[in-house]
Amino acid sequence: MPDKLLKNSPVTAIYGCGRKKADQLAVLGIYTAGDLLRHFPRGYLHKGDVRELSENNIGKTASFVLTVTGTAVTSRIPSGKLLTKCKAFDGMRSCTLVYYNQKYIKSVLIPGNTYRFWGKLTRGKSGFILNPLSTEPVTASKKLAEFVPVYPLTNGLTQGSIRLLINFTLDNIEIGAGEFMPTKVREELSLCSEAEAYRYIHKPENEQMIERGRHRFLCEELFVLALTVRYAKRGRQLLKGKKFSTDKCAMNDFYEVLPFRLTDAQTKVTKEITNDLTSGNPMARLISGDVGSGKTVCAMAAAFMSFRNGYQTAVMAPTEILARQHFKDFCSVLQTLDIECVLLVGSMSRKEKAEALEKIADGSAGVIIGTHALLSENVAFSGLGLVITDEQHRFGVAQRASLQSKGDLPHVLVMSATPIPRTLALILMGDLDISVIDRMPAGRQKTDTFVVSERYRQRLNGFIAKQVQQGHQVYIVCPSVEAQEDPAEDSENESDFIPFAQRSDYAETEKMPELKNVIEYEANLKNNVFPEFRTALIHGKLSGAEKDKIMSDFADGKTDILVSTTVIEVGINVPNATLMIVENAERFGLSQLHQLRGRVGRGSSKSYCILVSDSKSESARKRLDAMRTTYDGYRIAKYDLELRGPGDFISLSADGVGEKMRQHGNFGTKIAELCSDQSLLNKIFEIADSLLERDPQLDSEENRILKQLLVKTDSAVNKTLN
Ligand code: ADP
Ligand code: MG
Repeated sequence: MPDKLLKNSPVTAIYGCGRKKADQLAVLGIYTAGDLLRHFPRGYLHKGDVRELSENNIGKTASFVLTVTGTAVTSRIPSGKLLTKCKAFDGMRSCTLVYYNQKYIKSVLIPGNTYRFWGKLTRGKSGFILNPLSTEPVTASKKLAEFVPVYPLTNGLTQGSIRLLINFTLDNIEIGAGEFMPTKVREELSLCSEAEAYRYIHKPENEQMIERGRHRFLCEELFVLALTVRYAKRGRQLLKGKKFSTDKCAMNDFYEVLPFRLTDAQTKVTKEITNDLTSGNPMARLISGDVGSGKTVCAMAAAFMSFRNGYQTAVMAPTEILARQHFKDFCSVLQTLDIECVLLVGSMSRKEKAEALEKIADGSAGVIIGTHALLSENVAFSGLGLVITDEQHRFGVAQRASLQSKGDLPHVLVMSATPIPRTLALILMGDLDISVIDRMPAGRQKTDTFVVSERYRQRLNGFIAKQVQQGHQVYIVCPSVEAQEDPAEDSENESDFIPFAQRSDYAETEKMPELKNVIEYEANLKNNVFPEFRTALIHGKLSGAEKDKIMSDFADGKTDILVSTTVIEVGINVPNATLMIVENAERFGLSQLHQLRGRVGRGSSKSYCILVSDSKSESARKRLDAMRTTYDGYRIAKYDLELRGPGDFISLSADGVGEKMRQHGNFGTKIAELCSDQSLLNKIFEIADSLLERDPQLDSEENRILKQLLVKTDSAVNKTLN
């Protein structure tokens, strides 16, 4: 009898796992017995679903409990395959069992004995045919598993072999003191133990067990995330930062030059920022607000305070277009206050760059605005006091941290592009304090939204013409840049399979409508539809300088119709644009559509958003309908999160907590579901907070394992501290 296994025992300690299997497991990232138990099933075969041999069940993959009535006969068919046939009976009807290339099956099938066959029932010329994927003897003494796990595999490993290894591990592992979750926390959340959870997940007897096991692992994951971000937050609160003087944070001069009055929401956020800046600890604050709610001016206010206190401010935007726009906006307010603003983006000439770099280094630049070009090594600040990043989820946490490291514990302000559901903000950015702008500036008009099909093309063109003739401008967004093959949809039929993470409706096997592309679309407008209007196109494959020229021409009213990919999605502000048309609207996430819609309705004229879609899919229709009836970005974001998971919100952050979440692919979608369970999430955060209150450094015996986990997950978050 081998010794008990521990979580960190190498897989080779598992009975039946030699060098070769160990290498195959390594491909899946499995090195220890503990890793193996965390190799969660993709789903389960419901073998408890026992059917009878009847017309109704043709085409179904299910279990059939049958008694073998004849002797199995094996022959070689022309293709060279070995064919084994055998008659079986369910008490009412008979079928022929058919196996290919299963040499030993003949010796398994004993006339008179009963088996559970799992497979798909079909109809042949002379009756029912069953081609079993598994054949298990039914005996009185042994209960057959109803739910059989299906694991992600790699070349060479079979479901059977991985199941054997996991079963052996389950029977021989000693979790005991290795349990991740402190007992108190488990009790507070009424979770089963880790050992139980492994059993529930890998050898469930019913669906409730699967659910219970899964719930435990999800809570564990969220708990570790909560602990990680809160630990980082507490760490930051202990740091000494730049203490701005309250006097020098007086805002009167700033308000004087603003072309409008701040809304109450903006005033509240500005106060929160002032409190942070004068507190003595480094600020780390997220401004969350709907599209157009006016986040930028709060950031400007912060930059103003930083300047008055003798510090530089860096503003980092995700695209060059946006950086230039911020530059213009910041200049228009801050230059009148004698604060020099400097732009730094990749497409500037060497001479321009050199000039900018000099101003940054000698301190004559008060506010430096740019793209990730700001991160480049030759950028040396002379007293960086505040780092502002816009549209945070597009940057990795590490990029944010890298900019911060150019100063000595600068204050940090993050503006979110899209409204982020509070739950997700907690998970992704729980190390930040959060300010919410929950009111729009007065006088905003609602952008009327319509969903139309291709049949409306003529009328749509008429509508475009009308807007342009009235002196307004139009955006048209297409999902792709140039004509391309649509990647074949995965049409694998898995209806007999209970997936672990419910597929989102995007996995629908609907034949997708043809994709519109920017290049052909614009050519057609220019040559055929609207030769009399000024059209332009823009997409991500153009150089920064080209994009900039096109965007500024549009902003200056030199273009009537701009055909674009989603590069115009974030932040662009052209108040004279009154119509947004989105082609193949079914292809976009709701938050993305909301962002796009936010590009219009920014001036005083009535604006419209028209979503064009020929998709017949029910869920696409539902999503688009949600756009038509909902204008609240937070509600849309929450809905989007439920439908698509957190992917869109953490899309390009190539590191950090977001990435960590994605790695746990088994539960990816489920986490989104948990995100929507606000009360559970709040509870988990409360528990994490109170645990840190009791044991701030997680030094106690029981919490030590958690601390190790933290050290693994927190590298990204912790970088913000160092
Ligand atoms: P977002 O929150 O989407 O980044 P912006 O900061 O770009 O929004 O603001 C959107 C528009 O609203 C800008 O043109 C800005 O000048 C204007 N704006 C911001 N605050 C106010 C206000 N208090 N009153 C009137 N207009 C405002
Ligand atoms: Mg913005």
